[in-house]
Amino acid sequence: IIRESYQQQQAADVHLNDKTVVIVGGNGALGQLFVRLFSSAGAKVLILDKDDWQHAEHFCEQADLVLISVPIAHTLTVIEALPSLPPGCILADLTSVKRQPLNAMLAKHSGPVVGLHPMFGPKQVTLAKQLVVACHGRDEDQYQWLLASIERWGAHIKALTAAAHDQAMAFVQVLRHLSSFVYGSHLAAEQADLQQLLDLSSPIYRLELMMVGRLFAQDAELYADILLAEPNNIAMLRRYVQRFEMELKRLEQGRKDEFLQEFTRVREYFGEFAERFLSDSQRLLDTAGDSHQI
Ligand code: NAD
Repeated sequence: IIRESYQQQQAADVHLNDKTVVIVGGNGALGQLFVRLFSSAGAKVLILDKDDWQHAEHFCEQADLVLISVPIAHTLTVIEALPSLPPGCILADLTSVKRQPLNAMLAKHSGPVVGLHPMFGPKQVTLAKQLVVACHGRDEDQYQWLLASIERWGAHIKALTAAAHDQAMAFVQVLRHLSSFVYGSHLAAEQADLQQLLDLSSPIYRLELMMVGRLFAQDAELYADILLAEPNNIAMLRRYVQRFEMELKRLEQGRKDEFLQEFTRVREYFGEFAERFLSDSQRLLDTAGDSHQI
């Protein structure tokens, strides 16, 4: 608690009174959060949402930062549609995928460019202890004030190449979301009694059910776009389905030995992470249990 209030104190110390920030998609879920952050830091914030393009020229010519926060499917066309920006203006985006938007921004603008991926949703009230991935584009020294502000708002910044980001997100987001989606869709098709599953689940499975269920409380469009953004991911997902099918076949044929062999092989792959995940999750559950939330 002390740490959080310290971070809130720091957040109050961000002064951007001399900056003009254009947020493209500023009326959207995540856009609004950043409008709020920049406004409270004293920046002049101009929102360029889908019916505001007649102001694009006028807004952009005074901008110190143009931040793109539109649906993934529109990101590339929106970047291309931007008028030319002042040479020192930062062009940045918040898109959940990074390689294509970063390339589009570098092609659009010859000044400072950085790709950002906030690893949190729009319901986040503050950035305290949150993570933002930053993918370097161009002129790092000129976009430092942006990264410094995000850090002062309490977030950690992790620098990563766009390619490494997208590769990791294939598992962190794409595989995770598809698994949750199919899990949820299967529960629905089988008409499983959710209340009963909840009542009969141990805390860790209740957590899993929550992880699946919370997907359906969020934006379908965002998840569809994340799943569709990188054609390469489809091949990886196809391998996942084949593996699923193969394991099921083993079980169908009662080949327990092979199942046990595979289990050992995966245990070796996880190595010390397996023990660490067991003890970390136990600690998490104990803490949650103490506060009677789970
Ligand atoms: P959203 O649909 O809530 O908001 C998008 C906004 O963009 C809307 O206000 C919409 O009117 C506007 N828009 C659409 N087309 C436009 C156009 N041509 N010109 C200008 N504005 C236009 O979406 P969101 O959830 O806020 O996501 C925005 C971005 O943030 C996406 O790139 C997404 O990947 C990224 N992101 C979202 C989350 C999340 O959890 N929501 C988390 C991390 C990153």
